[in-house]
Amino acid sequence: MFAEVIVNRPTHYHPPAGADPLRGDTSRLVTYTYRLPERLQDTAAVGHLVQVPLGASTALGIIISLTDMSPPNLPPDSIRDVAEILDPLPVVTPTQIELAHWIAEAYLAPLSQAMRLMLPPGLEARTFMVVSQAMAPASLEGLTGEESAALRLLQGHGRRVRLDTLLNQIRAEDPEAVLHSLAERGLAEARYTLVPPKPAPPRLQYVRLLADDVTIKAALPRLGHASKQADALLILARRTGAPLTLTELCESAGCTEGPVRALARRGWVEITERRTLVVALPGAETAELGRAPQQAVALSALLDRDAPTELGDLLRETGVSLAIVAALEKKGLVQRIQEPPLVLLNLPADSILDRVTELRGAGKQRAVLEALRDTTGRVWVGGIYAQAGADLGTLQELAERGLVSLHAEEYERPHPTGPEAPPRLTLEQEAVWRQIEAWVGLQQAGREPHVALLHGVTGSGKTEIYLRTLEAILAAGQRAIVLVPEISLTAQTVRRFETRFPGRVAVIHSQLSLGQRYAVWDRVRRGEADVVIGARSALFAPLSRIGLIVLDEAHDGSYKQAEPIPLPAYHARETAVALGRLTGATVLLGSATPDLVTYYHATQGTYDLLELPHRIIPGTQQPVPKPPSVQPSLPPVRIVDLRQELRAGNRSIFSRSLQEALCQTLEANQQAILFLNRRGAATFVLCRDCGYVARCPRCDVPLTFHRMSTPGGLICHHCNHREPTPKHCPDCGGQRIRYFGLGTERVEATVRELYPEARLLRWDRDTASGPDHERFLQTFVDHRADVLVGTQMIAKGLDLPLVTLVGVISADTALYLPDYRAAERTFQLLTQVAGRAGRSPRGGRVVVQTYNPGHYAIQAAAHHDYGGFYRQELAFRRRLGYPPFSRLVALRYSSDDAYHCHAEAEHLGRWLTTEIQRLRLQADLIGPAPCFFSRVQGRYRWQIVIRSPDPMPLLSDVALPRGWRVDVDPDSLL
Ligand code: ADP
Ligand code: ZN
Repeated sequence: MFAEVIVNRPTHYHPPAGADPLRGDTSRLVTYTYRLPERLQDTAAVGHLVQVPLGASTALGIIISLTDMSPPNLPPDSIRDVAEILDPLPVVTPTQIELAHWIAEAYLAPLSQAMRLMLPPGLEARTFMVVSQAMAPASLEGLTGEESAALRLLQGHGRRVRLDTLLNQIRAEDPEAVLHSLAERGLAEARYTLVPPKPAPPRLQYVRLLADDVTIKAALPRLGHASKQADALLILARRTGAPLTLTELCESAGCTEGPVRALARRGWVEITERRTLVVALPGAETAELGRAPQQAVALSALLDRDAPTELGDLLRETGVSLAIVAALEKKGLVQRIQEPPLVLLNLPADSILDRVTELRGAGKQRAVLEALRDTTGRVWVGGIYAQAGADLGTLQELAERGLVSLHAEEYERPHPTGPEAPPRLTLEQEAVWRQIEAWVGLQQAGREPHVALLHGVTGSGKTEIYLRTLEAILAAGQRAIVLVPEISLTAQTVRRFETRFPGRVAVIHSQLSLGQRYAVWDRVRRGEADVVIGARSALFAPLSRIGLIVLDEAHDGSYKQAEPIPLPAYHARETAVALGRLTGATVLLGSATPDLVTYYHATQGTYDLLELPHRIIPGTQQPVPKPPSVQPSLPPVRIVDLRQELRAGNRSIFSRSLQEALCQTLEANQQAILFLNRRGAATFVLCRDCGYVARCPRCDVPLTFHRMSTPGGLICHHCNHREPTPKHCPDCGGQRIRYFGLGTERVEATVRELYPEARLLRWDRDTASGPDHERFLQTFVDHRADVLVGTQMIAKGLDLPLVTLVGVISADTALYLPDYRAAERTFQLLTQVAGRAGRSPRGGRVVVQTYNPGHYAIQAAAHHDYGGFYRQELAFRRRLGYPPFSRLVALRYSSDDAYHCHAEAEHLGRWLTTEIQRLRLQADLIGPAPCFFSRVQGRYRWQIVIRSPDPMPLLSDVALPRGWRVDVDPDSLL
């Protein structure tokens, strides 16, 4: 018996002599034939994971067909044996094999890469790369630089190393190709194991307060770093008797005069002048001074008071000269005393602790302790971070002082309770559902499946439609895949599926540990779950009998796999449509802001269009006798022209309208969301004197300033490179370093300033990761915070009834990026964010701040006018021949060498131009040109964009030179 196998390894194309080296490559789609040894013949089936020999080493493969006939064009003794079946059950379904072929064709990807999308999670993590023992020096000849470097890395790891670890360490455009060529030379070998990883849940950090109030009170002044100023201040504050002299204070604080003088400059203490005092000695009498009247005057003035008198005052008051006083002293009647400078406290007692905290830089630690004071038991750290503006470093310092304890605990999502009865549909939902119900019926009868765009504003009841359809599909004995943009951000939606169909839903979280992910995958493979919910890759769960595929928020950018994630750059929406065709499943694409191309298909009849134009007033979840009413209007949006604010002299990042609205919202004890699509405190750091801007040394993009980050400084949002903020300009040495732009941290700081009593949560990728997202959300839902400040993450499908104000700090952040989808993305984002307000009978409003109040994307979003936006944007696309009037394919090249990168791009560009003419294709090129992000992680990037109604004839058999990446229907041209 023979098996046709897709081998998990790229193949290299060797063009025949004399042929065009860039044409005729069919190696992408190559499969291999192996013989099945007797012992495997009974078990082997389509979809099995096997180990096969390949060249000098071994590879993983998937059996895609079995036959008894020996392949006609292969000499029988050249056919090698399948070495092993690695898992007793097939790992992919026959449908998935078809889907892999579709992906390879549609995205110009190697079949092996397409197949890999469907392999069990963690397969690679359990693969080991081994250095070959027999390493003849001859075999080292002719290694490329990258190959020798990889070999050294491999040797450095000793006997063996996990493949995924190694792949992360190799610095090359295509690390796998490098390893494979080592394997082909017999220098290294991959060993496969398929022990399922242990499904350990991920862990969350918790903190617990250990100290009581008294201990905390004693500890507060000692938090933070050492500060002589703080020490001196504390000594002064505790002093009860006579004032301390400067020398005494310095002695007890163990410091020089410097810190005390610094305190004086801050105005927190006063240092008195050095003075000379005069005092009458006991027993002195003026009677003896009959012949010296001036001396008598001076002495009697002194005797009139009991305290020492300052010399200057005495002289002024009595009009005597210094000589008179000296004479009195000589007679032993008075004494002059030199009084040293004294240090006097100039602060109210209740502000000492604040100042000490400030001096010792212990503000965060104190805030943490104060936040913890109201808690009992262990608390999740994320909430404390948000409340106290602290980070792990802060908590660790407190733990070292024994004030708190830190520990990690495994986190399991709570199991949903259910089942929950579905509500009665509204009239609009009813109409939509009747259509779908008809299709689902036809589908059971084996008729052509439908792809439908479900266009409905946020809160119009789309999810309820998915649930209803799902119920029908399950009742018919079929299964379903539900895709959501990102699980942790759509926890509420996921929860609704789980409660409606308890026990039947498998959730594929991005936060699952590898072992857990494998366990879920295996559960689906064994048919133990009927509904798979997850992000993009859940589409490749090994589910059989698929009757429904849902994409929620179908316009979302996360559905497109893109760099730097390994190829193929598939789009989950198009792939879902393909999977629907292969399986006969109904496909529902739900969105309030469908992407232009999808909507165009729907208007052209390629897809069906279903509309839910009105919002449901929630709060009536129970089945009600009458279908619940729909609210005709979405929240009113007010556009604020920031240029006018400037002209009116308002330089704050909050316009007057937004300040007013925020104030009213807080007074009414309702919640607000402030949205800004940018993390950090300032966008960039600039020298006012010479114009120097701090840039990432590897990516050449401006670095972003983060106040909170440790060690406190600049971060590259491309590659995470970090460096401290410069104290003076590295170019000109100038001192006038300024921060420009605006990020979420700045917004947070400003709100804290304007509304110190408001409870604030900042939610972005700097404050939340992993399972934190769900906790953040819950904190806000439970109204334990009043204001949520965040990036686009908060724009996703949250249902927050108490939110009555949404403020968009700047609508312009994405508008002028050089990308043909900039307007579309701006419109989508603003509409989604605006949809967060007023999801309750309390109503709500939206304030959008912008420098471009007239732009059609902003205007349309403000009027909730999808149709208006669609018409204008479509006209623009038609004029410039952008999708849907063409398709784009981006070819990207990157290299360490700027010159080489440019030359390579020009070279391929010329070849493509010639080919387009030779084949008489309707196509043109945009570029070659450097990418907008022209350098990432030290590598220069160039791109060529092909624009054509059908780019496939030009590209399908092109052997792109090494280093090129192809992105069909790119999501962005940056
Ligand atoms: P979308 O998915 O379009 O944002 P949802 O399905 O989440 O809309 O519905 C918005 C709100 O209205 C939710 O709170 C949901 O529970 C409620 N809802 C949806 N359909 C109904 C209905 N037929 N009867 C009562 N409440 C409903
Ligand atoms: Zn960088």
